[in-house]
This record gives sequence, structure tokens and C-alpha cells, in this order.
Amino acid sequence: AATGESYNVAARNLKAMKDMGATREAVLVQRWKPADSFDVPCPCGGTCEPGETCDHCHARHRHVKRYPGSTTEVETWADRYECTGCSSSYTLTIHLAGRPWGVAETVVRGGSAEEIVQATVFPGVIHPLLRSEAETSSDE
Ligand SMILES: [Zn+2]
Ligand SMILES: [Zn+2]
Repeated sequence: AATGESYNVAARNLKAMKDMGATREAVLVQRWKPADSFDVPCPCGGTCEPGETCDHCHARHRHVKRYPGSTTEVETWADRYECTGCSSSYTLTIHLAGRPWGVAETVVRGGSAEEIVQATVFPGVIHPLLRSEAETSSDE
């Protein structure tokens, strides 16, 4: 069992190295500061929609945040929009092809041999429901 264990660790490290470029990309997709005004393009890369007009105060919503929007679909992100005039906000689920927030693998679990999709979050990406690889402890 010990040999199998070290093989898994080696394979995982190899995979992490291969994903370095993807990791950097994913962090860039998530980490940006909201635009100061509507005159400049959104710093998220222009992949968001123009913010809607608020029903309450008639100001416009601004794209303020992006985070992983699924626990298994690695190309699914959630965009949060906040009103510039009041506390109104909404979230849109988007699909960014080729810009995953992590790696999804199908693993077979336990004696029932049940296949489940398990996603690993790239280091540096903040997932609201999953922990990133860098923060995962070794007590699996
Ligand atoms: Zn945006
Ligand atoms: Zn408003």
C-alpha cells in the first residue's frame, strides 16, 4: 500500500506542475478590482454582461466579483453584480470555456464502486464551497 501511496503523490505533483499555466489563468480570471466607472471596460476581461438598471434606485449594477459557480463543473463561474446606488445585487452563472477554476476527475469511491466527479480547485482560487489544493490537509 505504501508504494501505491507514493505513486499517487508523485502523479498528483506531476499534474500540479502541468497545471501551472492553467492555475495562473484561473487566478487571473478571479482576481481583479471592479471598474471605478462605467466608462472603462470591466477588468474581468470583458466576459461579463452590462449591469442591469436597478428596480429600486435606477442606478446601474456593476460587476464586482467572480467565483467558481459549481462544485463539479470546472468551467462554471458565478458573476456577482452590485448596484452602485443601493444594496441591491444579483448573481449570474456563466460558462467560461477553456478557463477552468480547477480540475475535475471521475473517481471510484469505496466498496460500492460508485463513480463520482471530484473537482480539485487550483491553488490561489477561492471557492465558496471547496477548499483549494494548497489548503487541503493530508488527512484523506
Ligand atoms: Zn466583468
Ligand atoms: Zn439600486
